[in-house]
Amino acid sequence: MTNIQEIFSLLTQSTQTDKALVQKAYDFALHAHRDQKRKSGEPYFVHLFETAKILADLGMSATTISAGLLHDSIEDVGVALETIEKEFGKDIGFIVDGVTKLGHLKYRGTARHSESLRKLFLAMAEDARVIIVKLSDRLHNMRTLQYVPEDKRLRIAKETLEIYAPLAYRLGIRKLNRELEDTAFKYVYPSEYAETVRLVHEREGSETESLEKFLKSLKKELAANNITNFHTEHRIKGLYSLYKKLKRNGMDIDKIHDLAALRVIVPSVSECYQVLGIIHGAWRPLPGRIKDYIAFPKPNGYQALHTTIFNGDGGLVEVQIKTEAMYHDSEYGIASHIGYKQETNEGIKPNSKTTQNALWTNLMQSLKTELAEEENVRKIDFFKERIFVFTPKGDVIDLPFGSSVIDFAYSIHSEVGNTIAGAKVNGKFVAIYTTLKNGDRIEIETKKSAKPSRKWLESAKTTMAKKHIRISLTGSRK
Ligand code: MN
Repeated sequence: MTNIQEIFSLLTQSTQTDKALVQKAYDFALHAHRDQKRKSGEPYFVHLFETAKILADLGMSATTISAGLLHDSIEDVGVALETIEKEFGKDIGFIVDGVTKLGHLKYRGTARHSESLRKLFLAMAEDARVIIVKLSDRLHNMRTLQYVPEDKRLRIAKETLEIYAPLAYRLGIRKLNRELEDTAFKYVYPSEYAETVRLVHEREGSETESLEKFLKSLKKELAANNITNFHTEHRIKGLYSLYKKLKRNGMDIDKIHDLAALRVIVPSVSECYQVLGIIHGAWRPLPGRIKDYIAFPKPNGYQALHTTIFNGDGGLVEVQIKTEAMYHDSEYGIASHIGYKQETNEGIKPNSKTTQNALWTNLMQSLKTELAEEENVRKIDFFKERIFVFTPKGDVIDLPFGSSVIDFAYSIHSEVGNTIAGAKVNGKFVAIYTTLKNGDRIEIETKKSAKPSRKWLESAKTTMAKKHIRISLTGSRK
């Protein structure tokens, strides 16, 4: 059921060292989760193995694949981060730790909150690989969602549709985006899903037939113009993205012109424009539907030329023209920039200087700007001055940089602050003066008899905590 050769066969350029690393992570995870079962009754390890396979399929490196195998070992079976770092190095430890922390984010289900959560999610993951592992984890959970109890199923599917699928889209990983959306769609909007499937079935046959007919004439036309080095691909649109479009068009499928889009893939950018010219010379384009995403890429980096033409048979067909690299990028997005070939040991940290890092840094920068604007703190570097920490239930609390356990307690409630007796950070007892870090999870213990002291003031950063401590100190002197 879990043959490591399946992963190896996807690692086309791997060295012996790479394989040894993946093998070690495989053995470690198999052992660590040996007593754990999934809801389906299968060994838990199957989930880790499948997550690793999704990562390998995306072209990720041995490092990321190994992190995929280990991603639940801290949370589920209590392996210490230090152990992972010692056995597998800082890099893998960093990814596993990041995935664990993202798992603590809680989804509340309001649209306004979803957008912030999506941005927060990206901002918290300092390394794109953390997000890619998390998305692959979620994809396997969606593929096996039927085993999860019904009440939980809907929450997970909604979260996938509102948080994870848009994240995959934002990172340009269409391959993940499409499957996340379509698996969640079925659970979140069952009747709309059934209706969309019905409409597609009704049209699929004739659509494919007319597309193939058009393709024949297109090939002839291109050959007549000396373009022979190209290949084509056609696929029916993803169900959820089709549904969204149908909804905008009164559920009228006749208004959808890209149900089946035809892709023409050529070697160079100049050939893209040449092909567009040839097509427009032979078939009449639909006005207003010509899009030059090569000169003006979409915000997520997508590039191609799109046009919709009258196929001469009474129908319309959308043609997308792109280079091989654009095609690959449109399916794999950021994953293709940090995949096997490009990934360095250093990882994709915002501060390093390679090209793929520039891509990630740009994305992070724009997200941070958006979030800062949303929070109305345009003038300060929001992320440099704030940290995000969690309550035990997973609610996010943002505090100024340098805040302590004391500040956290007061941000929950002044009464909690006034009666702190002790605290745990990430499951370990700490002094209440401890400075907090991004992603920490804090539990506060209170005692009626506890009260603030002078020393608390020195560790308080927020105005609110200082104010309440002062009130309590002067009050107790009276
Ligand atoms: Mn998992």
